[in-house]
Amino acid sequence: MKYEAKLNEKCCESPFFHELDEKRYGLMRRVRKSKVKLFREENIPLMVKEQELCTKYSEIMGGLTVEWEGEEKPFPFIKSQLDHLDREVREKAYHAMMSAHRQIKPDMDAIMDELVRLRHQIAKQAGFENYREYMFVEKNREYSVQDCYDFHENAEKHIIPAWNRLADVFKNKLGVDTYRPWDNTTAKLLKKPPYSEVSTLMDGVSEILGKTDPYFGERFNYMRGHGLLDLEVRKGKGPHAFCAPLLVSGDIFVFSNFSPSHDSLSTLIHEMGHAVNGYLEFSEHGPFDQHQWRAEIAELYSFGMQLLLLDKLDRFYPDEEDFKSAQREELRYAFTMLFSPLSGDLFQHWMYTNPTHTAEERDQKFFEISKRFGLSPVDTSGFEEEIGMSWAGTIHYFHVPFYTIEYSMSMLGALQLLENYQKNPEQAVESFKKGASADLNQSIAKVYEETGVRFDFSEPVVKQMGNFLEKVIQEIH
Ligand SMILES: [Zn+2]
Repeated sequence: MKYEAKLNEKCCESPFFHELDEKRYGLMRRVRKSKVKLFREENIPLMVKEQELCTKYSEIMGGLTVEWEGEEKPFPFIKSQLDHLDREVREKAYHAMMSAHRQIKPDMDAIMDELVRLRHQIAKQAGFENYREYMFVEKNREYSVQDCYDFHENAEKHIIPAWNRLADVFKNKLGVDTYRPWDNTTAKLLKKPPYSEVSTLMDGVSEILGKTDPYFGERFNYMRGHGLLDLEVRKGKGPHAFCAPLLVSGDIFVFSNFSPSHDSLSTLIHEMGHAVNGYLEFSEHGPFDQHQWRAEIAELYSFGMQLLLLDKLDRFYPDEEDFKSAQREELRYAFTMLFSPLSGDLFQHWMYTNPTHTAEERDQKFFEISKRFGLSPVDTSGFEEEIGMSWAGTIHYFHVPFYTIEYSMSMLGALQLLENYQKNPEQAVESFKKGASADLNQSIAKVYEETGVRFDFSEPVVKQMGNFLEKVIQEIH
């Protein structure tokens, strides 16, 4: 940290630094300048402590097991049981998950209390009022705290009604009178996985990508032919899917561990959005470095790809009702990726501007905020306490504070892309490609504009999105 800071300082002081081409190095220059502004040597031990706490969190979560039918099962297994078709199994899984949270509650509270205290001190030592102000500079944000609050409020006012409407459809399809926390999860209405062999999955995805745009299909086939898609399940393979740019060859590599499910189909499409974005950036601007990454843009093309392919999922679901269920599932995902990070953002604004809060207040706040957003259509009675403590399940609050609203921003942009696509598919795909190859040294708003969408959280924009979503839900009713 110390030497990185020295290097940044030296860089910024160099007379040649300001002569670097704005178009290629503008963002790098801004990132290094804010790093210099934030750096304090006395913060290093605090940041080391912060890392230790985050490691401790991951160790506890990674080792978490739950008793299930007389056996010790890892936590992710129990989570997967929330997809079960049988409602009783889902309810049992939900209870098991909540009891697991209860088990680790004292540790989680201690870690979070200490993290908030440390982060507040880091901010103070760097000359900021609180950690939020510090993080806005650290993240080089091009929007204000007020913009975030506007987004929270406008989404609550104008998009929650559509979310409640979608929940009514689910309630109906599930045949339940009350929508309980174990009903509001994932793809349980899809009775059959969309493929059985990874090769069939690849054939289908290649086809629907190519149908959307020949370039998308061509990239997929190239990656498949060059061993850049490592999707098969293998023993010992990590559980997560990701997409990695290979800076020397200029290729993109996708890693995953897929077993047949709707989720793996949409994950592959999502990763292909990242991959197409990566290839276009490479071919337009050459390999980019760590300073060229914009969190507000990173998920725009991955979420966007999922939504552009929404009307072609019948390739995997020939049955009309299954096709609709799959589309509704994608929509549910879109709402979740909009609201869950948005409420997580509000939660963190509260935590770091009230750094002396108690553990009890934190749980209450988390419940209150969750209820305003994602859990709005859910009957949570009797689970207030459990939901309140479930913030501990979100790794971002520990490892990457304040990195959540970027997902909601990207999703709002991706949904606008869907709206454009429904009006004019060719034009929407063209602007997708234009934006995905845009110069990242420009402002975020400019990159969005090149994608044909708006980086704007004001009431008219969010309201229009709410209306559009109501219309989409009507159509796949
Ligand atoms: Zn992604």
